[in-house]
Amino acid sequence: RAVPGAGVPAPGAGVPAPPGGRGARAAPSRVAAAAAARTGEAGAAGAAERSMAGTGGGAKAAGGARGAVLTRRGITLRVLLRDGLLEPGRGGKKFVGDLGSDGTITWQETGQVFNSPSAWATHCKRLVNPAKKSGCGWASVRYKGQKLDQYKAAWLRKHQPNVPPPPEEPGRGDRTLSSADGGAAGKRLEIKPRVPVRYCTLGTRDSARNPQTLVEVTSFAAINKFQPFNVAISSNVLLLLDFHSHLTRSEVVGYLGGRWDTNTQLLTVLRAFPCRTRLGDAEAAGAVEEEICQSLFLRGLSLVGWYHSHPFGPALPSLHDIDAQMDYQLKLQGSGNGFQPCLGLICGPFYPGNPGVESKIAPFWVMPPPEQRPNDYGIPMDVEVTYIQDGFLTNDVVQEMTLLVEFYRGAPDLVKFQELWSQDQTYLDKLKGSLASRTPKDQSFTHVLEQIFSLLKLSG
Ligand SMILES: [Zn+2]
Repeated sequence: RAVPGAGVPAPGAGVPAPPGGRGARAAPSRVAAAAAARTGEAGAAGAAERSMAGTGGGAKAAGGARGAVLTRRGITLRVLLRDGLLEPGRGGKKFVGDLGSDGTITWQETGQVFNSPSAWATHCKRLVNPAKKSGCGWASVRYKGQKLDQYKAAWLRKHQPNVPPPPEEPGRGDRTLSSADGGAAGKRLEIKPRVPVRYCTLGTRDSARNPQTLVEVTSFAAINKFQPFNVAISSNVLLLLDFHSHLTRSEVVGYLGGRWDTNTQLLTVLRAFPCRTRLGDAEAAGAVEEEICQSLFLRGLSLVGWYHSHPFGPALPSLHDIDAQMDYQLKLQGSGNGFQPCLGLICGPFYPGNPGVESKIAPFWVMPPPEQRPNDYGIPMDVEVTYIQDGFLTNDVVQEMTLLVEFYRGAPDLVKFQELWSQDQTYLDKLKGSLASRTPKDQSFTHVLEQIFSLLKLSG
């Protein structure tokens, strides 16, 4: 009956020994797994499980949860509620188990014993929704009101302070630090080079796999299929998101606004909405989102996708990106109103493998795994798009660019635009070169851009 995340007691003082840790074991006590009960809202409830981490639940938590915008990559419950894609309500189911001194969990309802939170969570989730895939098991089980993965993170901070954090990427909200065997203590974060793998080498979902693993995209032609929708993107959209992606060494994220025409099956992307937030800044995330919702509404646009950057890596989706994209597709598709696509864009501004100065901006979409292999990852598909060169630079875009420069001014991860990017080009040259192909036809805007560039030179 309880909504996931609601009504759970506040975490007690002091962090108990982490489940599965090598040291002192937690005394036998209660753990609770939350799962979506109404299959129609499985996606939404799934998101609630994740984004309500460590909060008391309720409407405020949905929008203001820790890094709501960044960790969930743009499209959050608040946005979906506003756009009428979701309705607030109760409808989760809660399972209660006893944590044994040996680290096992005994499910109270049946007495079944599970060796790990993931095994138990997966079992419970499948009872509620047989189509539910495994994943984020630790994040769906709470101990004294707090998610287990947070205990795990706390343990790592305490015992392995010298382990560098993994490369920053928004969306590590469901950080899966170890495989589902509960032996968290022995395993840990690993920094893996981001070498892309081919989809066909992935096989079944494996929680031990680094969610940051990059995956090559597949073309529809290669699998003898037609792209299920057409896409047109305005050059101003690319200009703004490319600009945003260049500003910082950290990943950035934003929304895409536009229109979906069911008759022509054409998705038109007309506007980028950069999130001016820092990773983990919950307060700001909520406010920024609010502003973007308002912006979309005032312009009569719909939410049609999201973008994010891989500052120094290839513009290919990670396993995490694939799952996030799949989630968003399901959410935007809604229920009953027919198909509405959701486009993902990845911008790789400083990847050394790009030819020339132009950032690679890769549109992608995810195809569900084959029916007979439901436990595989979704298939990241290359999306063909038509670029529409805008006639002029809108005030909107100029204003967004100025606000972005202000936002990142003086930040430690601000790109130092006067420094050399290559032998004979500064980062500023690189930025200008990348934007050149995305500027509007009307050259009278060149001076406006130059003004913004001169601000950048000063803000380092
Ligand atoms: Zn990514």
